[in-house]
Amino acid sequence: MINKTAGCFCGEHKFNVLLDEKPRVFNCHCIDCRKKIGGIISIIQLRENAVDIDKSKLGTYEHSGGSGNKIKKFFCKKCAAPILTYVSKWDKFYLYAGMLDDVSILKSAYNIFYEDSHFPFMEISERELKT
Ligand SMILES: [Zn+2]
Ligand SMILES: [Zn+2]
Repeated sequence: MINKTAGCFCGEHKFNVLLDEKPRVFNCHCIDCRKKIGGIISIIQLRENAVDIDKSKLGTYEHSGGSGNKIKKFFCKKCAAPILTYVSKWDKFYLYAGMLDDVSILKSAYNIFYEDSHFPFMEISERELKT
C-alpha cells in the first residue's frame, strides 16, 4: 500500500489515503455523475478505512443508483469539492481521483456506463471499457 496526501480545493479538508500500487480507477460517464459534477468523473476504489477523514464534517447528498441502491456523496461544505462517494451495492467508498495532490500513480482507468451518456467528443477504445 502507498500513502498519499489529498485534499479539497479550498484546503478545509486535508487527509491521507492508502492506495494499492495499482489503484482501481474508473471513469464514470453516467448521467448521475454528469449532472452532479458537470462532466465525466474519475474515482478510485478504496479499501476499508483507507482515508483518515472525519466524514461527519462533510456535506452529504443521498440518492438512488440505477439499481435502486443508495449512493451517498460526500463533499466539502466550504468549496463544494466532491470528496467521496459511497455505493451501498458494493459496500465500498470511492475517492474522487482529483482530490489526490499527486496523481502520477494513476496509470490507467476503466470507462464505465459509457453507453449511457458519454460526451460525443471523447474517443474511447474498447480495451478501456469495463464490461
Ligand atoms: Zn474545500
Ligand atoms: Zn456515475
